[in-house]
Amino acid sequence: MQAIILGSGSPLPDPDRAGPSTLVRTSAGDLLFDCGRGVLMRAAGAASGAAAFRAVLLTHLHSDHINDLNDVFTMRWVTSFAPNPLPVYGPPGTQELLRATEAMLAPDIGYRLTHHDDLQWRPGAVVVEVEDGPVLETGTVRVTAAPTDHAPVRPTVGYRVEDDGHAVVIAGDTVPCPGLDALCTGAEMLVHTVVRPDLIAPIGLPRLTDVLDYHSSVEDAARTAARGGVGTLVLTHMVPAPAPGAEDEWVELARPHFDGTIVVARDLLALDVG
Ligand SMILES: [Zn+2]
Repeated sequence: MQAIILGSGSPLPDPDRAGPSTLVRTSAGDLLFDCGRGVLMRAAGAASGAAAFRAVLLTHLHSDHINDLNDVFTMRWVTSFAPNPLPVYGPPGTQELLRATEAMLAPDIGYRLTHHDDLQWRPGAVVVEVEDGPVLETGTVRVTAAPTDHAPVRPTVGYRVEDDGHAVVIAGDTVPCPGLDALCTGAEMLVHTVVRPDLIAPIGLPRLTDVLDYHSSVEDAARTAARGGVGTLVLTHMVPAPAPGAEDEWVELARPHFDGTIVVARDLLALDVG
């Protein structure tokens, strides 16, 4: 199993970092976690794409995590040569999100159905809303969800992917919480979004300071990794994005709280799990 960071960025546009999304390449196919800005550009860089995703799994419905869901929805449709509805898992609200996405695309769907004689079906999705417990099981792959804490964004979930005895956790945006702790127990890898209060708080902009109360700091993420006994902590969705060459600073902040491997994500970084 591999975890491939497709987008290591945050809501703030960055020339080098796509929006948050992670691909987990399993023996049962590619699982896409979140659909941030530029997700399909980066998926192409990982030799994957919309028609190939075994499933899309959303951690929450904040715009930066779903910016390009509409692109995945459309490209799934137009690059498949038989009906191939997109399996989507996510917290309650996901069904309505897909309905609204299809409604937004109504003119485009009409144009393409009119233009392509061989395209005789509409795009579609099979949505399963999840909060806690088993999500999907196929072959040796098992995905589990648990509630996270990103209040006032509710509900939000994290995921644990297991394949042939190995496990990686996709935390999404959350402060430390029991649901995430449960997912992490004994996992080889934790992919965690993080922020830097030491850099953001002194700026004194309320719009930025607000971001701190519902995300984990680097130290929080490191302590979560330590409690779970995970092997590798991957820091992603970094706010503010580290300047090139400053990544080690982020590792140094985590180090006192976690003695495993610490990795600062960049786009298309591929990591073996186990
Ligand atoms: Zn969020």
